Amino acid sequence: MPIEGHSQNAPVQRTEGKHRKKSTFPKGHLAATAVAAGLAVAVGTPLLSAPAASQPDSTVSEVLRMAFTTEPAAAEVRSYPQRVQTAAAELAQVKRAEAARERQRKALAAEKERIAEAKRKKAEEAKAREAAERKKVAERKKAAERKKAATTAKARAWVKPTVGRFTSGFGARWGTTHYGVDIANSIGTPIRSAAAGRVIDAGPASGFGLWVRVQHNDGTVTVYGHVNEILVSNGAKVAAGQQIATMGNRGQSTGPHLHFEVWADGSRKINPVPWMAARGAPLT
Ligand SMILES: [Zn+2]
Repeated sequence: MPIEGHSQNAPVQRTEGKHRKKSTFPKGHLAATAVAAGLAVAVGTPLLSAPAASQPDSTVSEVLRMAFTTEPAAAEVRSYPQRVQTAAAELAQVKRAEAARERQRKALAAEKERIAEAKRKKAEEAKAREAAERKKVAERKKAAERKKAATTAKARAWVKPTVGRFTSGFGARWGTTHYGVDIANSIGTPIRSAAAGRVIDAGPASGFGLWVRVQHNDGTVTVYGHVNEILVSNGAKVAAGQQIATMGNRGQSTGPHLHFEVWADGSRKINPVPWMAARGAPLT
């Protein structure tokens, strides 16, 4: 019977598993294997004895690697989804770790920036404080200096009798003795008492035209000659620096100047320069 004979000659149902093995590999893999074999034949090189250095073509080496990769076992293939799942989980974990590291890095950077900013702010504040302190110190110093100057002026017993050019010193001059010093300036320049005391002469004097003599508390007498105007009366009490006359050119004088003498103990005519210098009122 044709049907029976047919069934004997075509045992499709029974023998399918023996003749056809289901490929568990992608077709590309098998194709690559074939290509690799072909390539090896084509270049005439033994597949395994070729040293890596003589294989410059990376594609060829990749193909060879694929050709000699053993096919995965069926069990391994079945576990692919699980492996994919595991890989995905691992990837997610790696990503989370990466994100955590990034957050940590950012937090660290922010912290560093915060510290740097705090440092900058602190430095600025310190600078401002220092500047304020310096200003305060300078102001205190200035105030102290002002106070000292005022106190000194108040307490200063001796002052320069006038301002001008020092034109002649104490001592021998023109065959005689010059018993004082000459300070030249214009007529009318104020002349002040060199120290506090009492006026003992205020009027005409031989050679001086007009003079003023003041006796001080220590007994010293100061003399102001050639004055133009006398501004105090005989017997008047004067303070150090008080104006008593104006500069003139009276008497034996070659130009407007003050002739100033110092009589130690009221009678001994001494060089006014060291005397005044010793009392903080230098004439030169
Ligand atoms: Zn003189």
